[in-house]
Amino acid sequence: MDFAPTQRQQDIRQLVGEIAARHCAEPQERARDLSGEFPDGLYTELAQAGLLTLWKQAAAGKGMLDGCILSEAMGQHSATGSSLIFVSGISAALIARGGSPIAGELLKGLESGALKLAFGLTENSAGSDANALTTKATRDGGDYLVNGEKRYTTGARDADYILAVVRTTEQSGQRPGLSILAVPTKSAGLHIAPMDKIAGNSHASCTVRFDQVRVPADHLIGQEDNAWSVLYLGALIERMAVAASAVGMAQRAYDEAVRYLSGRESGGRIVTGYQTIQHHLVDLAMRIQAMRSSAYYAAWFADTGADATAEINMAKIFCVEGAAHVITEAFRLCGGVSYLADSVLYRLWREASLGYFAGGTTEIARNAAARRLGF
Ligand SMILES: Cc1cc2nc3c(=O)[nH]c(=O)nc-3n(C[C@H](O)[C@H](O)[C@H](O)COP(=O)(O)OP(=O)(O)OC[C@H]3O[C@@H](n4cnc5c(N)ncnc54)[C@H](O)[C@@H]3O)c2cc1C
Repeated sequence: MDFAPTQRQQDIRQLVGEIAARHCAEPQERARDLSGEFPDGLYTELAQAGLLTLWKQAAAGKGMLDGCILSEAMGQHSATGSSLIFVSGISAALIARGGSPIAGELLKGLESGALKLAFGLTENSAGSDANALTTKATRDGGDYLVNGEKRYTTGARDADYILAVVRTTEQSGQRPGLSILAVPTKSAGLHIAPMDKIAGNSHASCTVRFDQVRVPADHLIGQEDNAWSVLYLGALIERMAVAASAVGMAQRAYDEAVRYLSGRESGGRIVTGYQTIQHHLVDLAMRIQAMRSSAYYAAWFADTGADATAEINMAKIFCVEGAAHVITEAFRLCGGVSYLADSVLYRLWREASLGYFAGGTTEIARNAAARRLGF
């Protein structure tokens, strides 16, 4: 295995760094979260640099490692940036893999930044058990009529389309009857309301109610009743992206702790001069190194064309749980300053907890890995 980053991977890191320097300084991150305003400038630059749709490559069975490098780099700067990349990248991959008469228009819009998409699978009674979803689409001439309610649909408030997973046929087996529709957010009968979150409010997660929403039949993504063949890929990309962005967040927490403690004096010494503190920092660096290796390995394995379901799910669990540990430890090591509302570690501490649920909970990831390991 070659650990040297390719030129493309170096370029991705550099691009993210440049864009983040313009849009993701700490005061910008904080102001965004307080105002809840959508980060238009960040979105447009990510789109035009090709980063918003970079995860689309995974639809063609390659590019997981490039996607990982992207999500890790963005995670170091901004969880909102990661969320934009995450939602747009998954949407682009689903559209590219599924195909649709309107696929070209949607992908072109995402690539230029002219369009924003959200992805709505989860409902109040269908979270981990997505098969239980009840939002229904019935054919009515050349249209579908959609009724039901989604929950946590991230980006819906500002999106042009929601890729909504809907029931098109009553359930009669293990995975039947679900389809994906690109629902224009301007449709009559669509009601979108942001939910108040502990972080990331500028990329608003919303409840979305569909009251007799009319959607043209050519807005179907993939084949009717066959959403799972596409959603499966979406779940793997989501979990890989969450794992990589957790690595970036943990690295940022470590860097912040080292920066702060290297300038902090106590008992007449710089705090990093105390061996006990050095040991703690080594433990964090060691954990991050193992997290990064696990994420890169899973992505590399997927890029070989192998079935990497177990590796990706295990990387997701390891990185998300590892980031929570590293961030909490960095927070603790820095002392009371971490507890101030404008502290980077406080932001990371709030944001990192989303990893437990994003793309499915760690229990669900363990279930997926267990099945693949033959249990
Ligand atoms: C900020 C945020 C943004 C989100 N964005 C989106 C989005 O854009 N689009 C979208 O569709 N969804 C989104 N989600 C939803 C997310 O995917 C779900 O929260 C997640 O899948 C878990 O579902 P749930 O919250 O309903 O938990 P539940 O399914 O109610 O789970 C509750 C508990 O039961 C456990 N559990 C459930 N079933 C099993 C089982 N079979 N085996 C073992 N344990 C089990 C879970 O692990 C968990 O501990 C978002 C969530 C949040 C918090």
